[in-house]
Amino acid sequence: MIKATSTLALHGGVPVRTTPLPYGRQQVDAEDVAAVAAALRSDWLTTGPLVDEFERRIAAICGARVSVAVSSGTAALHAAMYALAVGPGDEVIVPAITFAATANAVLYQGGTPVFADVDPATLLIDPDSVHGRLSTRTKAVVAVDYAGQPCDYDALAAVVPAGVSLAADACHALGAAYKGRSAGTLARLSTFSFHPVKHIATGEGGMITTDEDDLAARMRLFRNHGITTDHRQRAERGAFAYDLTDLGYNYRLSDIQCALGISQAKHLEAWLQTRRELARTYDRALQDVAAVSPVALAPGRTHAYHLYVVQLELEQLRAGRDEVFAAMRAEGIGVNVHYRPVYLHPYYRARGFEPGLCREAERAYERILTLPLFASMTSADVDDTVTALRKVLGYYHR
Ligand SMILES: *Cc1c(COP(=O)(O)O)cnc(C)c1O
Repeated sequence: MIKATSTLALHGGVPVRTTPLPYGRQQVDAEDVAAVAAALRSDWLTTGPLVDEFERRIAAICGARVSVAVSSGTAALHAAMYALAVGPGDEVIVPAITFAATANAVLYQGGTPVFADVDPATLLIDPDSVHGRLSTRTKAVVAVDYAGQPCDYDALAAVVPAGVSLAADACHALGAAYKGRSAGTLARLSTFSFHPVKHIATGEGGMITTDEDDLAARMRLFRNHGITTDHRQRAERGAFAYDLTDLGYNYRLSDIQCALGISQAKHLEAWLQTRRELARTYDRALQDVAAVSPVALAPGRTHAYHLYVVQLELEQLRAGRDEVFAAMRAEGIGVNVHYRPVYLHPYYRARGFEPGLCREAERAYERILTLPLFASMTSADVDDTVTALRKVLGYYHR
């Protein structure tokens, strides 16, 4: 046990861990490797039967009618904006605290992102702020299930007018639920990512779930250049001709990647359970660590714990988040920060977005710290993180 008074590793002291703990990482076992190897020996490296199978698997997990596999979570957001016919002159409301891709996808379609503020306790998009940002040009609202906790979808549905679409960036929320309804069914369209830090991995990969067949058909076209049939369908029909009916992209997910995704999905329930148990261990241990509190849980949510985020009580500290971050990294703990309000990035600043737009998001950004959380982590790893936090915050306490 390291005393709170021991010298910080940042100042030359002994670090809590000599082998650094990452903030997230994938888990790949022999079965996953065998599944990918089998796909490599099959007739289809890219669009083949495993794409359909992976789509059905994710739709079943979410309880959604259909899903469309694409090459990344970002491609999923782009396809969602395309399916909702977002274009020049349209505004799309997104939360200030999210990964940049949520807002970038609006720009890809020539639309204008409008940033809504977040609830200071949960850091989820604030329905009142959404209400205040609506205009006659609002085409859609994208709710982000930050850290894996679903937004207040009933409150959002109450403020979003008829004719404005509600979409979900559920990239953190595979396996989450709101009032017993699964992520992936809480909006017209929901997007997921299979990046290695997410719940299940395909390397790069993404998916959109929906209950609307016409939206799914539009996204299938969009991921394949805007062409009406794919290579496999033409091979089956013995035909060469196809129609290009719109400008699409190559956003296909390969059979090799889907083989990994299908195999990974078998572990989802167990991994979610591990993430939830580790989060509870953090919750309990942090109760008696000064100057830090976990992001609040709202009622009626089943959290998927993609991230475990805490807020620092800066009033009690003589250091800011950046110093705490550096000190934790020096102790061998892979802390991170999710996220800087998107509009504070230089690209957005250069397009006229100014500080002060979302005060709660900006205030939260000064305080947030993401602690390591992944399914192959142990409770001893949680103990190391809490020990380091106690040591660092003990040192900086006023
Ligand atoms: C990961 C993530 C994305 C993008 O996913 P990629 O697969 O990395 O393109 C989008 N939005 C959120 C909230 C994410 O966490």
